[in-house]
Amino acid sequence: MMPKGPYINHNSITSRIQLAEHFSIDENHIDRVIEKYPMKITPHYLSLIKKHGDGLWKQAVPDIRELENSSLKDDPLYEELQSPTPNLIHRYPDRVVFLVSNQCAMYCRYCMRKRRIGRHLPQHESSIEKGIAYIRDHQQIRDVILSGGDPLMLNDNTLDNILKQIKKIQHVEIIRIHSRIPCVLPQRITDDLAETIRKYHPIYLNTHFNHPDEITPESQRACSILADVGIPLGCQTVLLKGVNDSPHIMKELMRKLVQIRVKPYYIHHPDPVQGTHHFRVPIQTGLKILEYLQGNISGLCIPRYMIDLPKGGGKVPLQCNYIDQSNHDRHIVRNYRGELFEYPDA
Ligand SMILES: *Cc1c(COP(=O)(O)O)cnc(C)c1O
Ligand code: SF4
Repeated sequence: MMPKGPYINHNSITSRIQLAEHFSIDENHIDRVIEKYPMKITPHYLSLIKKHGDGLWKQAVPDIRELENSSLKDDPLYEELQSPTPNLIHRYPDRVVFLVSNQCAMYCRYCMRKRRIGRHLPQHESSIEKGIAYIRDHQQIRDVILSGGDPLMLNDNTLDNILKQIKKIQHVEIIRIHSRIPCVLPQRITDDLAETIRKYHPIYLNTHFNHPDEITPESQRACSILADVGIPLGCQTVLLKGVNDSPHIMKELMRKLVQIRVKPYYIHHPDPVQGTHHFRVPIQTGLKILEYLQGNISGLCIPRYMIDLPKGGGKVPLQCNYIDQSNHDRHIVRNYRGELFEYPDA
């Protein structure tokens, strides 16, 4: 018998009353927010919060501002419009995002898929079957990204079954898993899980850390288990106001990531999603961080900085401009210390 249903983390915090056992909160409005956008905080993540209002608190604890500014869209990136079947987003020619779970170990307050996360949307086996059939029918798809929700909220057997079916499709060259579990529920990463995933190489896992305080011995252990079976690990960090919108915090985060064998892949600019406007920062903030990272830390630690265009335009990397002036075959280029050098072009 294959166990069905999601991996359950029973002892997570999901109500104001439970939260009040750990922090003095008098914020009755939390209930109003939770009604619209559910709360879930793992005991592990809760233990990392140092004080009321810090960068980890902000990511996990509901805020009344989630109910403000309803002019922002639920789905500004047109994910639903670009879904040929309910669980699959096909925006680029050669790759798809396959939403195989609506559940996450923790509900991040800034989530760009707030509209669906934690909802009891129908996630019938038939919708997974439809997604797999779509991939099978579209020869141009060579990269399948399992996302959600969090794919590692599925139990090992369900995940194995999905991976097996995708792997059977000849034109699929690589599989990626997007998961925040190594950060928020590191004990979910077991040898059994790693053995399940490794059968389907080449398989990549992009995880999600936003703050240096999230990098703990438990997360390090989780990442080692995955890296030891040959799964390359990347990180997709979201730039968030009051959490990591500082060059020094980002530098520390990127350095700590490579120490736990995770290669920073993207810093995502926060999307204009309803319920998350209090996390948004100007693009200039992101560019300043990027400029600071360049030269001050190993190139290995530097991710690309991405904005995702509204209406399904896709991701675009934003870059700092180091060419100060150009005159035919002569460029004046600025280095990371702000000094100018003349560069002879060909
Ligand atoms: C981000 C994203 C991808 C993957 O983009 P990469 O730049 O290849 O990592 C694919 N499809 C959709 C819909 C996405 O949002
Ligand atoms: S883990 Fe990812 S999908 Fe889940 S709530 Fe957090 S950001 Fe959203």
